[in-house]
Amino acid sequence: MSECIFCKIVAGEVPSSNVYEDDQVLAFRDINPEAPVHILAIPKKHIAGLKDVSPEDRALIGHIMTVLKEIARDEGIEDSGYRVLTNCGPDSGQIVDHLHFHLLGGRQLGKIG
Ligand code: 5GP
Ligand code: ZN
Repeated sequence: MSECIFCKIVAGEVPSSNVYEDDQVLAFRDINPEAPVHILAIPKKHIAGLKDVSPEDRALIGHIMTVLKEIARDEGIEDSGYRVLTNCGPDSGQIVDHLHFHLLGGRQLGKIG
């Protein structure tokens, strides 16, 4: 989608601090980190949010999860612990309508919600 900020990052039209990339997935550091490690992992194809994931995306979503755990290991937070989350819809506070999974760690994280 031409007006989507994360599609622009995928296209290289907006700079990002990338930590992982393959043909399906891009992961980069959040521009406004809420923890010492705050990385976003996204599908390269535009999916607006979790509610828009379809059965044919099953392997893609599973792949993103394995990428996230490898990034957590590479970032040195495998043993200290981390959180993976996705926001979906207004009550969650989702502000970017391109599916993304937050990887947060490097400090004691508070309770969710
Ligand atoms: P959510 O939509 O789940 O609330 O969060 C979107 C996240 O994307 C926020 O944590 C925000 O800081 C991050 N973000 C928004 N725009 C950009 C950007 O242009 N570059 C990067 N690296 N992160 C962004
Ligand atoms: Zn997009």
